[in-house]
Amino acid sequence: MTSDLAHLRHADTTQALEVADRIWWVGHVLPNDPFQCHVYLLEQGDQSVLFDPGSRLTFAGTLGKIEQVIPFTHIRYFVCHHQDPDITAALPLIDDMTNRPDACIVTHWRAQALLRHYGLKLPFWLVDQHEWRLQLQDRELEFIFTPYAHFPGAICSFDRRTRVLFSSDLFGGFTQTPTLVAQDESHFEALRPFHEHYMPSNDILGYALTQIERYPVEIICSQHGSIIPRPLIGFMIEKLRHINCGIYLLVQDDTDIQRLSRLNATLRDIAETMLLYRDFRDIATRLLELVQRSLPVERLDYYAALSDSNVLVLKRETRFSGTIESSIHLPYFCTFIGRNREDWIIIHNDTLATHGHCLHNELFCVDKDADSNEQQIRIPLVGHGQERIDGFAVMTLKTCIPITQAVIQIVSQIAEPLQVALEREVIYRMIDMERERAYQRSIRDSLTGLFTRFYMHDVMTRYCNLHDRDRDAEVTAILIDIDHFKRVNDTYGHGAGDRVLQQVGVILSRESRSTDVVVRYGGEEFIIFVVGKSDSCLFAERLRLRIAEHAFDIDTNAPLHVTASFGMAQRIQTEVLENLIRRADEALYCAKETGRNRVVNASNPVLENQ
Ligand code: GH3
Ligand code: MG
Ligand code: MG
Repeated sequence: MTSDLAHLRHADTTQALEVADRIWWVGHVLPNDPFQCHVYLLEQGDQSVLFDPGSRLTFAGTLGKIEQVIPFTHIRYFVCHHQDPDITAALPLIDDMTNRPDACIVTHWRAQALLRHYGLKLPFWLVDQHEWRLQLQDRELEFIFTPYAHFPGAICSFDRRTRVLFSSDLFGGFTQTPTLVAQDESHFEALRPFHEHYMPSNDILGYALTQIERYPVEIICSQHGSIIPRPLIGFMIEKLRHINCGIYLLVQDDTDIQRLSRLNATLRDIAETMLLYRDFRDIATRLLELVQRSLPVERLDYYAALSDSNVLVLKRETRFSGTIESSIHLPYFCTFIGRNREDWIIIHNDTLATHGHCLHNELFCVDKDADSNEQQIRIPLVGHGQERIDGFAVMTLKTCIPITQAVIQIVSQIAEPLQVALEREVIYRMIDMERERAYQRSIRDSLTGLFTRFYMHDVMTRYCNLHDRDRDAEVTAILIDIDHFKRVNDTYGHGAGDRVLQQVGVILSRESRSTDVVVRYGGEEFIIFVVGKSDSCLFAERLRLRIAEHAFDIDTNAPLHVTASFGMAQRIQTEVLENLIRRADEALYCAKETGRNRVVNASNPVLENQ
């Protein structure tokens, strides 16, 4: 028998089916029953064992299958992993049918305390009084304590001979169209709601899983759902370990498990999207797909202020690449963008309420259009730690829906990260626009073609703002000064000096990334701002080498060699630009003082010093 059990996937469930050596599935599948009762028979001659006998509804079916394997009277042990009716309601029927004096119910004392209320004549055999083991003909059953999953006294059974785990509810699943054996990883989606909903805490589940992991399990025979074969076991345990338990606590007025699970998945995916994607277009496209899973949202648009008269509008039609619109055409947004959130709340409460606008949790406003039956949910986006409204996200819904907890949950989940994403986008846009304008004002230095100090100030202030909001948008300043440049002028003339400066400019530009800002800072001083994560020390060192090894062509017989000294500093969040440059300058001074033609890092002056 192969442990993937593929041969059982489409087996005839009107028959008893052998899943491992002398272990038979004798369950009964009821139509439209999300909790099918999978009963198992461990065939041991007249000492046979029946696991989780089932309900009154399924017992006739189960009995028929048992009789295909052994006479019912050969069953001595009736194992009940916990006390739920779908596994124990058949006990009174069994009690009536069983006359052998050694027959017994095998369970945990905590389940026995409840099962005794059936008033059965069958005695109890308690696992906790028998060292959690039951000796059979050709094997020994071991019992594993998995309390509160899903009942205080819940247990599982393990047959070390076949490595079958009878897991009761623990790996149970809700399956619409039951298959006896789980086919692939997608089966986890059947397990997920089973635990997500009413398992109160991940710790309880985690404890049970840790117990299970001590056993070399080959096959999990679950009481509901599907059998889990060996190749899928590790995956299912790992996924269960990280599940969000107790989502019934999340939305208390909604008890639809499937819907709650979908909502939970949406909230999880929203959080993941924000971590995964950095490009606003990707974030917006994915977010729209995600909210559409839970709400009838037709569109999700964004509005952000660029200046007093312009608003950046990002819509799906333009793949969220954005258009700039005049604020006169967008009265609602222009009333509020740039204003305090408090104002937005007060104005809504005072005046807009009478115009069909309605505030919810002071988080968003809902605007219903009586003619089209359209509904708009407008979410103001407010910068972290500040109260100013910088933009809006607007959901348009095809039909009016009640504002339930689920809607509030989704809006809360997307509001803050969207704020960051939109703000980042606006900064990028403004940098782009600024670059464009700067070109027009010819802000490039005429000798080297590099950026001027004026431009540097403008663009770097924005990059510093971005860095203040996003720690990963690092800024490093590398200040470069040609060594003994005066001698070049003095020896070869000013024209030769100019040619050296031009060629240094070419080297710096060629070695930099397109996102770096390369500036002619002064006469023979340059500054490069490295933006974003990168190994700036290596980069500076490479620049130093390139200059040192370059043969400068100054129209003389022999090419000229020059060197340069480097001082660099990494920006600390909130640091003003002038200070960053001052620190780089101090490092540069240190490089000059200690022999020139070297790189000194302000944050690590001694180690970097060569
Ligand atoms: P150090 O290694 O200490 O930096 O020595 P240095 O000679 O490079 O430093 P110093 O600052 O004393 O000299 C810089 C010289 O650069 C002085 C100035 O004449 C020259 N310079 C500044 N701008 C230009 C320019 O546009 N063209 C030329 N050819 N030279 C310039
Ligand atoms: Mg100088
Ligand atoms: Mg110099």
